[in-house]
Amino acid sequence: NYESLPFERILEIRKEKISPSLYTIYNKPILLHQGFKQWLFDYEGRRYLDLFAGIVTVSVGHCHPKVTEAACKQFGRLCHTSNIFLNPTIHQYAEKLTNLMPGNLKVIYLTNSGTEANDLAIQMARLHTGNCDIISLRGGYHGNSPTTSAVTSVGYYKPGVATGFNTYNTMCPDVFRGIWGGSHCRDSPVQTTRKCSCSPGCCEAKGKYIDQLKETLSTCAGRKVAAFIAEPVQGVGGAVQYPKGFLKEAYELVREKGGVCIADEVQTGFGRMGSHFWGFQTHDVMPDIVTMAKGIGNGFPMGAVVTTPEISKAFANFVHFNTFGGNPIACAVGSAVLDVIEEDGLQKNSEVIGTQMLLEFAKLRDAFEIVGDVRGKGLMIGVEMVKDKETRQPLPANEMNLIWEDCKDMGVLFGKGGLYNQTFRIKPPMCITKDDVTFAVEVFKRALIRHMERSAR
Ligand code: PMP
Repeated sequence: NYESLPFERILEIRKEKISPSLYTIYNKPILLHQGFKQWLFDYEGRRYLDLFAGIVTVSVGHCHPKVTEAACKQFGRLCHTSNIFLNPTIHQYAEKLTNLMPGNLKVIYLTNSGTEANDLAIQMARLHTGNCDIISLRGGYHGNSPTTSAVTSVGYYKPGVATGFNTYNTMCPDVFRGIWGGSHCRDSPVQTTRKCSCSPGCCEAKGKYIDQLKETLSTCAGRKVAAFIAEPVQGVGGAVQYPKGFLKEAYELVREKGGVCIADEVQTGFGRMGSHFWGFQTHDVMPDIVTMAKGIGNGFPMGAVVTTPEISKAFANFVHFNTFGGNPIACAVGSAVLDVIEEDGLQKNSEVIGTQMLLEFAKLRDAFEIVGDVRGKGLMIGVEMVKDKETRQPLPANEMNLIWEDCKDMGVLFGKGGLYNQTFRIKPPMCITKDDVTFAVEVFKRALIRHMERSAR
């Protein structure tokens, strides 16, 4: 019985029997037994505030009763058929999900993960356009299959083997760390403190990063492209936000070269951005293909691709089949998740609590030299750590880890990311409260003070 396995035995099994690439993130790992809303409980009953939501996956709260009930009910009624037969759940879900999509994004494909969704989207783009090349942004994460790990551009996630062909990474328009800064141009309550010559309403950095994309496009085969794939805010990349207007111009350029635009909403979708349900809406763009996973199922493994009827025709001449994609339990869960987001007002909560979180963390940025940047929107937040604000060099890994571990020991779990793993990521279940923000900020502040004391020794 799992419950009775002692902590030490679990560590042994992990070491001997489980994939060695599945690292344990804390020096002193935590053994979790239960979750409720924004809280996790370890085997000794210790409570943690979960600011990372199982890597941005638990959208409406751990073990939300409505989602649990929907899953259990469906499990007892009809667990699996594969979609070669009709059953109501996928049809009900298709209608509910596509009603939340703007424009002509009306055809869905259901998968089991974000990787599968992006694989499918890329294949679809290539078939539809007849072109092969795919462009993504440095710092982007889109999955770990051969094709998606080629468009993923975070070194520590890339296997040292040949991956998919005809993919290019262009410069990430990161106005804090990139070579061109912009201090007025993020769609966030918090701007960079980095000095630049931009003024409100004008972002020189955006134009320079767009020039980089133009150059990348001109290196593509036949100067044609199949697709441009980007997250509306980078997740693994460390909540990197692009200058306002960047995605809009990028989409135009890509379409001029015959390509389609894929919005990877695996982390940003389902109300997390607060002001809008989908991240791409915050950029005022209309993608041709949208991919989703993680928060779509609040922890249940599922993913989706949504596209236009025209693009979906690319798949009309052969059978595209996925045994578990769109299974009845996933559809029942997905449907309950959508209901809960609306009934519990979670999009609004993301906006209100996310803004409070950003403003509070910005105060710590102003007070501590090693907090270089605070950014994000809604509950998609990054706190980038540096040696000092002048050079913006990443805080060394050992120092990052001590702060991270210290926060864990005080009861708050942050995520980590960024090209150099230099950014703490805050992407909690969307039911987080005002009091949780106060607690998280206090814990982080104490960890920073302890860091300063260690450094002074
Ligand atoms: N896209 C993004 C933006 C992601 O963050 C991830 C997972 N970190 C994926 C795709 C891949 O999703 P999965 O792990 O479900 O395959």
